[in-house]
Amino acid sequence: MIKTPREVNEIITALTRLGYEAFAVGGCVRDSLLGREPEDWDITTSARPEQVKGIFKRTIDTGILHGTVTVMKNHVGYEVTTYRIDGEYEDGRHPKSVEFTSSLREDLRRRDFTINAMAYSQDTGIVDEFGGMEDLRAGVIRCVGNPMDRFQEDALRILRAIRFSAQLGFSIEEKTREAIRVIAPRLVKVSKERIQMELTKLLLSGHPEKIQEVYALGISPYISPWFHQINREHLEISPRLPEKKYIRWAALLKDTQAEDVVCILKDLKMDNDTIFGVRLLNQWIYRDIPVHKPAIRRAMSQMEPEYFDGLLMIKGLSGCQTADQIAALAEEIRCDGDCISLKTLAVSGKDLLEAGVTPGKQVGEELARLFDYVLEHPEENRREVLLPRILGDFLTEAEGMV
Ligand code: ATP
Ligand code: MG
Repeated sequence: MIKTPREVNEIITALTRLGYEAFAVGGCVRDSLLGREPEDWDITTSARPEQVKGIFKRTIDTGILHGTVTVMKNHVGYEVTTYRIDGEYEDGRHPKSVEFTSSLREDLRRRDFTINAMAYSQDTGIVDEFGGMEDLRAGVIRCVGNPMDRFQEDALRILRAIRFSAQLGFSIEEKTREAIRVIAPRLVKVSKERIQMELTKLLLSGHPEKIQEVYALGISPYISPWFHQINREHLEISPRLPEKKYIRWAALLKDTQAEDVVCILKDLKMDNDTIFGVRLLNQWIYRDIPVHKPAIRRAMSQMEPEYFDGLLMIKGLSGCQTADQIAALAEEIRCDGDCISLKTLAVSGKDLLEAGVTPGKQVGEELARLFDYVLEHPEENRREVLLPRILGDFLTEAEGMV
């Protein structure tokens, strides 16, 4: 019923041959049943970590204490985890304590949602103890067992529920929703980085608009006070935006003040590249770019091409009527090879010094002036045109000074 990679079958067979149980489990089973390509394959087994290590040639101690050994096959790692019962979670990632068990059912019961609590092997087929198949068919995210208890154990599951609903286009079952509302305050115990990773996955999904749920379900105050206060009047994040982290976050924060944008992202331990990109787009989103090549060249000169394209996408999807026209002109500017960077200006600082410009800040100012001129007149970006302009201008200035 499920097509498992050869390496996964080999691992399962090696374990079962020695009398252990072993299954593909969790996300890979869910995604396979949905006809989606699983990102990775996890295996659950009755064998203890030391036993797993004894069977395979190349293994890595990924999380021995939690029962996880990574088995390497053809340079790909497969996490093999011993059946376990989890204690309370510490930071939304690792339970404080784990207890190994010999029961697959127990291992499936500790998992967050019914759709994530199925196992599969070629010999046994699908093991579905908690109605995962039915929920998969109905498009429902439902906790395994009592949702209040499950969110209490690990509040990160609250965000995982919304994130899966956004990735799969599923709805959240009523009791699970209700529990989210009640347990939301416990999110303050979850590490900011884990929260950020879930929000990022949500924003990068096919349904980024489901970020609304974070507000609707009363979760936002527990992410951060700044996050809670963002201006949500026009919070429409189009799934048509490129699946780039900085673009999706910029779309979420487009009506938020620059200082607050930085507070939100720093608090969530966002990486510096993303913060840079979001800030840049945030500054430019409502800045008018006239449909006029010199103005477009000027805007293009202020940022890397990738950011400029991202900016036009957001502008277009945020109601800027001229975004397409600007994009078409930007394309022409690129095809024509117009100079939009000091790097491709036909004269350099060295040329200016040789032409008699005083070393120091005057060189920068003069370069900027010439660059400005070329942004208006790209066809003039030639040494023979620009060199005389330096000389000419400086001679006149010098004469004026006498
Ligand atoms: P994806 O890899 O797309 O994020 P996934 O379902 O594989 O989705 P992982 O975080 O890789 O999610 O976890 C693998 C499996 O481990 C899940 O399918 C689920 O069964 C279980 N799991 C992960 N995190 C939790 C958690 N916080 N609480 C309970 N079970 C969890
Ligand atoms: Mg996974």
